[in-house]
Amino acid sequence: MKIQSVRGMNDVLPADSAAWQHVHAVAAQVFAAYGYGELRLPVVERTELFKRAVGEVTDVVEKEMYSFEDRGGEALSLRPELTAGVVRAGIEHGILFNQQQRVWCTGPVFRYERPQAGRYRQFHQLDVEAFGIATPDADVEVIAIAAQLWKRLGLSGFELQINTLGTPGCRATHRAALIAYLAQHEAGLDEDAQRRLHSNPLRVLDSKVPATQAIVEGAPKLLDYLDDASIAHFDAVKAGLDALGIAFRVNPRLVRGLDYYTHTVFEWVTDQLGAQGTVCAGGRYDGLVEQLGGPKTTGVGFGLGIERLILLMGVQQVAVTSNAPQVYICRMGAAAEVQALQLAEVLRDQFPTLRLVLNAGGGSLKSQLKRADQSGARYALVIGDDEAAAGSVQVKSLRGEGDAFPCPRSDVAAELGSRLAL
Ligand code: ATP
Ligand code: MG
Repeated sequence: MKIQSVRGMNDVLPADSAAWQHVHAVAAQVFAAYGYGELRLPVVERTELFKRAVGEVTDVVEKEMYSFEDRGGEALSLRPELTAGVVRAGIEHGILFNQQQRVWCTGPVFRYERPQAGRYRQFHQLDVEAFGIATPDADVEVIAIAAQLWKRLGLSGFELQINTLGTPGCRATHRAALIAYLAQHEAGLDEDAQRRLHSNPLRVLDSKVPATQAIVEGAPKLLDYLDDASIAHFDAVKAGLDALGIAFRVNPRLVRGLDYYTHTVFEWVTDQLGAQGTVCAGGRYDGLVEQLGGPKTTGVGFGLGIERLILLMGVQQVAVTSNAPQVYICRMGAAAEVQALQLAEVLRDQFPTLRLVLNAGGGSLKSQLKRADQSGARYALVIGDDEAAAGSVQVKSLRGEGDAFPCPRSDVAAELGSRLAL
């Protein structure tokens, strides 16, 4: 029997990896531009971490986690998101106490969901987190980072939706009112909503079931329960976004799927990816560090789905830095084989960014040129017996930039350097 990949877990082939490398390079540059340092974390954490961070009655923990016991009997999970691990590491290494910390993180995350376009069981996130800054300027900063990323990737057409969840205090008052309201309409709610009514009523608000949605229309709105400080925080976030010219829409229904949010929550949404339109989502989580046993430290950040980002780049046909070879060296004959081997290494030494393939495995000139063309290279360098004897190389454009011409071997570097702007 042929062994196949696990459902919902995808391979990225070399032909498709240019977009991934481009995203990583641009993202790393953007995050550095805002002073964020990269944190690299294990893929596996203790299950307890996610139960406590994400919340025991969330979809993610209740239904989507890959949890298992290791051989020593430890209860472990593949991480379903990155923030919990970032906070765990921050506490463990003592880098969150009494200081500001700007970090980013990336890698695979795992959720047992129904696979479809834009929704997978292994997917990848880019994560940005700012700790120890309680003021709304940090909320504005992380949103601006995403906006800067769209700009540098050449993406457009997002809607930024924002909302505030206020403090735990206002949420508790609102929650009580919400439970009372939903309990009055219990019979009309769908099964999931009935179950969540008492455990996690806020989640009922973003139900996709029409009958439940109709009831939710009349539910008490959190915005009406906010205290003055929460309103001031939210106003300052909006003012900061206005100052940067970042357009947004306040969406009072936006509550997010994870339990740890306070104050600002936001999503960058596109209508170009069908049902899976949220590319980036985040918010403030002032209680999370303490909840995980750390010092009282505020946090704000976002998680971005790289697969959805790359799908959108495809839809908008944005330009991606190519990783195809630029030069392919063809070689025929004993002397030419050695000269080409040496030339390839000289060129790679001189131009660290040059992408050069040296023909290997022999073949006629015709078959080598065919490989050269298929590699995507812009130029073939051809060395046969005649060129080897003359100390020269034929430079052949593979993309219709004029006829092949001989070039002394000592001039090849200069010729390629100027043609390829190396
Ligand atoms: P959704 O509502 O689409 O399920 P979510 O609220 O569960 O998203 P988050 O936990 O906020 O998502 O994760 C951040 C981002 O990761 C999402 O905005 C999305 O771009 C991406 N993402 C989430 N789940 C998946 C998945 N199963 N496959 C691919 N990308 C995903
Ligand atoms: Mg989800």
